[in-house]
Amino acid sequence: MLSGITLTGIHEWEVPLGYVPDMRVSGRLFLSETLGEALEEGAARQLANVATLPGIIGHSFGMPDIHWGYGFPIGGVAAFSEDEGIISPGGVGFDINCGVRLIATPLTLGDLTDRTSIITELFKKIPTGVGSKGSLRFSGSALDELLGRGSAYVIEEGLGLPDDALLCEENGHMKDADPDLVSEKARKRGEPQCGTLGSGNHFLELQVVSKIHDPLTAQAFGITEGSICCMIHCGSRGLGHQVCTDHIRNMEKASKRYGIRLPDRQLACAPLTSSEGQNYFGAMAAAANYAWANRQIITHDLRTLFESLFRIDYNEMPLIYDVAHNIAKWEEHIVSGKTQRVCVHRKGATRAFGPGRAELPGKYRDTGQPVIIPGSMGTASFLLAGTETAMQKTFGSTCHGAGRVGSRKAAKKALRGSEVSADLKKQGIIVMAPSGDAIAEEAPSMYKPSEEVVRVVDEAGLSRIIATLMPLGVIKG
Ligand code: 5GP
Ligand code: MN
Ligand code: MN
Repeated sequence: MLSGITLTGIHEWEVPLGYVPDMRVSGRLFLSETLGEALEEGAARQLANVATLPGIIGHSFGMPDIHWGYGFPIGGVAAFSEDEGIISPGGVGFDINCGVRLIATPLTLGDLTDRTSIITELFKKIPTGVGSKGSLRFSGSALDELLGRGSAYVIEEGLGLPDDALLCEENGHMKDADPDLVSEKARKRGEPQCGTLGSGNHFLELQVVSKIHDPLTAQAFGITEGSICCMIHCGSRGLGHQVCTDHIRNMEKASKRYGIRLPDRQLACAPLTSSEGQNYFGAMAAAANYAWANRQIITHDLRTLFESLFRIDYNEMPLIYDVAHNIAKWEEHIVSGKTQRVCVHRKGATRAFGPGRAELPGKYRDTGQPVIIPGSMGTASFLLAGTETAMQKTFGSTCHGAGRVGSRKAAKKALRGSEVSADLKKQGIIVMAPSGDAIAEEAPSMYKPSEEVVRVVDEAGLSRIIATLMPLGVIKG
């Protein structure tokens, strides 16, 4: 572990005041000894930098998938007070409401003997790649509705089941969204892209439930050992990226105007009470709604394809849950014994609300929310449940994935896409992507071991492992 950072609990480390100048609170990192060995100095410093921002409450947190990001580390969580706190686009990330959903199917391994042709069909059906366009186009008032209402709008348009929206964080809809705050440029980028995966790290993956760790909770979540699930990871495409770019510029000016001292320009932010802060919030919330609509349309395409491929019914493929991992939200948390409304930034981190929270759909109120943690296209992914410990320690948050270890550039230098896919094929995993480079960049060896990352959040009490999911086939962006 880096010097100055000390172990204070089970996998819990303190980044002390003074690690960088002007910290208002200390940092907390959740890492095992081995993950600690791989901690980048730059990511630890970013975590400490976040602790200098006005109105931060408790600690600045780093999850075990922590790695260097734009301003805030990826795998970072920070909550800010209503009156003194700030909001920062760098604390949300460029891909606003990038997130993951898990869909159950009635299929088992025996139904998936010809994986190559199933993955080929999925690859034909779901647009992938950098500038990919969908078969639907949302413009004018349709785009306003989509940005204002998220999942519910596209479901009403016939692209989902009535319950789908309720099975998303925030019910698939941020109510503070203001479509008027989304620039013309962002809208133009978003018009043709809803219902597309996008590039690189985004994916649609077929998985088998290889192990159930908690049968009762698994039953409540609607999954059984040996069944096939589909995991979808994508975000708000060019629209969200443009919203972030537009507002970073405003925030740089705002930070100066409000006299906020920044240890790093990439932490540009504005008070939550300022017009700049509120404008970003409204635009970010609209982009978040776009992302939920995006994952919903892809879900619809998956279901209609599987109806025709397997003679199963659309409503036999229920959504288990949909989690956001790049977002800032108003939430109520207990701070020093009192309930307080705080703005929680989760950047490459997942909400992990425990049992009893009113935000959860009725059927998950007793178990805690489903938490979906992808691993890589060659290693295990996990379904977990939120916990009371997460509520007390991390504003109800946990990790969002395994986390990258190598840069994309290094991956392309060291690996060939064709060899990576041949290796995976030997393990029975079929991969399709628009380019070989995309596969090399996303090779399983470019990510931390997912079992280790998930073991840390489970043992630290931030979420409980419910099921292990192994990859069978994946389409990458
Ligand atoms: P991010 O949102 O930070 O790009 O990625 C989230 C996580 O998804 C990564 O940390 C990684 O663990 C996981 N991941 C990336 N590619 C794949 C994939 O093809 N399949 C699965 N199951 N997980 C992946
Ligand atoms: Mn993303
Ligand atoms: Mn993501």
